[in-house]
Amino acid sequence: MSVTCPACAAADETVAVRKALLDSDRPLDPATRQLLSMPSEPGGTTGGAIVAFVLGGLFGLLGLHALFFGDGGGSSDVAYQAGYRYGSLIVAAILLGIGLTVHFDHRSRRSDTADEWPRTYEQWQQLHRTWRESWLCRRCRVAFLPAGSVRPEFAASAAIPVAQFLQWTVTIARQDHRPGAPSTTD
Ligand SMILES: [Zn+2]
Repeated sequence: MSVTCPACAAADETVAVRKALLDSDRPLDPATRQLLSMPSEPGGTTGGAIVAFVLGGLFGLLGLHALFFGDGGGSSDVAYQAGYRYGSLIVAAILLGIGLTVHFDHRSRRSDTADEWPRTYEQWQQLHRTWRESWLCRRCRVAFLPAGSVRPEFAASAAIPVAQFLQWTVTIARQDHRPGAPSTTD
């Protein structure tokens, strides 16, 4: 399928946004990648929090093992024995604390955003459907929706600068969410 860019009227540099993000032969620069990427699912936990939780769990198991089966590290020094017995548990507690902090910080920053959308998983899926249909022209650095992409009667969109892509996708997805909403082209 050849999809024509609304700005340069050519199809040689157009690519679906989701394919452009995966293209390892012609990787997008980090700023563009950021601008074109889908926001994370609402209420999701960040990767950093998950890593902290997993490591915390591992250290917790190590700590319990040292507590019940340890010999105190083979030293007669009380402080050393305490460190040997409880060190892993303390590390586990710290990691769990970090994980919880990152998790709740992530959530509160999301809900701070004024007029936040998507809020629910259903809205996020709605956004994802629109996002999946969007295309990029590498030459013009614009995004667009081809005719018939979101709905069969959808008229081709104008060229949208990459910097406004996500905001624009949200607008389209929200309009699409209302049954019988008019098409967004003008
Ligand atoms: Zn173009």
